[in-house]
Amino acid sequence: MQQKELIYEGKGKKIFATEDANLIIAEFKDDLTAFNAQKKGNETGKGALNCKISSLLFELLEKNGIKTHYKKTLDSTHLLCDKVRILPIEVVVRNVATGSLSKRLGIKDGLELPFVLVEFYYKDDVLGDPIINDEHCKILNITQKQEDLDFLKSQARKINTILKDFFIKVNLRLIDFKLEFGINKENQIVLADEISPDSCRFWDKDTNEKLDKDVFRQNLGNVKVAYEEVLKRILSQGA
Ligand code: UDP
Repeated sequence: MQQKELIYEGKGKKIFATEDANLIIAEFKDDLTAFNAQKKGNETGKGALNCKISSLLFELLEKNGIKTHYKKTLDSTHLLCDKVRILPIEVVVRNVATGSLSKRLGIKDGLELPFVLVEFYYKDDVLGDPIINDEHCKILNITQKQEDLDFLKSQARKINTILKDFFIKVNLRLIDFKLEFGINKENQIVLADEISPDSCRFWDKDTNEKLDKDVFRQNLGNVKVAYEEVLKRILSQGA
């Protein structure tokens, strides 16, 4: 599939057009950003790790009945995906309180939540990605349909169950993660973007060692070593 013009560049990926109007190529970058891009870094090989991890997790989800934009892997940093219109919301799923939830509500870091929490954040760097509810989604015209919002939440919960059950087998606790969804040419809502240690929190089951972007956010060590460990464990289980 021939790569054509750059259509979008985000913090972690570049999106290119292809000769097929319904397909895009996602290139995973080595750049790292945190705190709304106030902290910046670059780690050679990080993009390839996220590309591999994302492709394996998309395949795992597809096998379990979740529709995603993923088509196939082209090389170590490029995935071929369906072109979708990304909804401007981040769907965050939390099993354990940490990060912004602990900060905002004063909930003890590391506290297991009594039930799975699903939240929406409005994707807007200038506004600092504020948390929003269903009514805000309608006012912002992200969608007017309650059934779309309910579908996003139910997909997010299903994805959580599949991933949590998978990761616990390789001694990783899935603490929280962020998903993005898009609308495909059939007007269906499908999972898009990426699922990687940039967008998930993984803690070792025995030691609670952090094996995700918090290593970069909090200067806890070598990010690549942590991401390599996540990939090694996924491969050991055969996603
Ligand atoms: N997250 C993300 N992109 C964002 C914000 C959050 O991928 O722009 C992920 C983050 O890695 C974590 C989860 O969503 O797995 C919840 O993040 P949180 O709201 O606690 O924010 P943070 O502490 O990262 O600022």
